[in-house]
Amino acid sequence: MSDCIFCKIVAGEIPSFKLYEDDEVFSFMDINPLHDGHCLIIPKAHYPNIFEAPGDVLAKLMPVVGRMARAVNAALSPDGINIMQANGEAAGQSVFHIHFHVLPRAMGDDAKINWGLRPGDMDRIAANADKIRAALAADGA
Ligand code: AMP
Ligand code: ZN
Repeated sequence: MSDCIFCKIVAGEIPSFKLYEDDEVFSFMDINPLHDGHCLIIPKAHYPNIFEAPGDVLAKLMPVVGRMARAVNAALSPDGINIMQANGEAAGQSVFHIHFHVLPRAMGDDAKINWGLRPGDMDRIAANADKIRAALAADGA
């Protein structure tokens, strides 16, 4: 989809802090992180939401969601992690290319499901990306 920001990230037309890539799946840092290590996992192919993404695409995504959650956990030791996935504006979806959030949590942060977008510090996001990539490399599967 030519006007989709995540398709442009997959195509390398706009920059991202890439964490992982295979034939069908791509993972990168969220640039408006709720907390350190907030990252996203997407299929390379464009599907707007979970209603339209075929089962085999979802099946390719989920092992990577697990790997990324383990890597964020190992790299940054957040107090907890939510896996979040929004479908529709009312559910808090703002980018209409299906994505899973690995959403680190801090004890007592009282985060809401619609946590709001606040631009992160790019140097800090880059440093966190380095740590997550190192943890990913240390985790064989
Ligand atoms: P959602 O609100 O569930 O649709 O999540 C979309 C997420 O994409 C938000 O957390 C945004 O911060 C994130 N996002 C939007 N544009 C970019 C971008 N260019 N690079 C990285 N993350 C982005
Ligand atoms: Zn797209």
